[in-house]
Amino acid sequence: MSRFSLKGRTALVTGGARGCGLAFARGLAEAGADVAVFDVVPPEEGFGTIEKDCGVRTAYYKWVDSILFIWGSITNNSRVDVSSQESLEEGFTSFQKDFSNALDICVPCAGINRHLPFLEFTYKDHQDLLSINVLGLYFTAQLAAKQMIANKTKHGSIILVASMASHIAVRSQLCSAYCGTKGAVRSMCPAIAKEVAEYGIRVNSISPGYVKTEMTASFPHLLDGWKSEAMNGRIAEPEDIMGACVFLASDASSYMTGSDIVVDGGVTRW
Ligand code: NAD
Repeated sequence: MSRFSLKGRTALVTGGARGCGLAFARGLAEAGADVAVFDVVPPEEGFGTIEKDCGVRTAYYKWVDSILFIWGSITNNSRVDVSSQESLEEGFTSFQKDFSNALDICVPCAGINRHLPFLEFTYKDHQDLLSINVLGLYFTAQLAAKQMIANKTKHGSIILVASMASHIAVRSQLCSAYCGTKGAVRSMCPAIAKEVAEYGIRVNSISPGYVKTEMTASFPHLLDGWKSEAMNGRIAEPEDIMGACVFLASDASSYMTGSDIVVDGGVTRW
């Protein structure tokens, strides 16, 4: 079997209803994994494209090839909000029941951005960012690691979604607090990797550049600037960044842990 194959593996992606998370979920599924998704948006909103593309049923369970989309907790039909410890734990409990405790790959991807000048940023704005981008990601990774350890997976891989904003002060945006949360993700990555290495779990991060998603769509006036920052003169489609995730999830990257892969069209390199 190819070392890139994820056949027989189980994956969980947070924030996977749309954008980068959805692309990661699809990439993992295309490589053979069964994939579950946690998100806060209603199914019809988040899976709209998928429904159109693949004709899936509208329900809390959504099978698309090998992707099982779980919108929120199966048991009480509520959403999984990664910024709430209770909601996250409930989501994991439902997920464990449905997948017989299997978990090999986890991609904590749910994240938000706030574009505000540093001098106008409020405590509340910053708290929202921290609770989703940092705490939500950290505790998703922690719950995933616990499940991987309990289930003795031989292929444990956690892929934290950082950003090129953890490498540079993004030129055309006012997002100092967002940069800080993504810096936190990238620096916690090797520290977590070190602690779970003894269980055979690898932890790496991905730093995407500008990607065409809901998050970036609200800034059409910045598009030309973003394009000119990339060496290849365009911003990424979500599919452009999925390969890095599949690689990090697979045995092809078995010697990589504590690392970060930048997928940014060269923005941070010149
Ligand atoms: P997006 O807004 O298109 O998608 C984010 C998803 O996360 C949405 O489906 C949303 O409902 C979900 N989400 C938000 N808060 C949540 C919560 N509390 N609990 C569960 N789900 C929640 O954004 P995107 O561009 O796809 O971003 C995904 C990740 O990629 C983020 O972590 C973002 O910081 C990172 N990223 C994006 C870009 C980019 O240019 N788009 C660049 C670098 C990094």
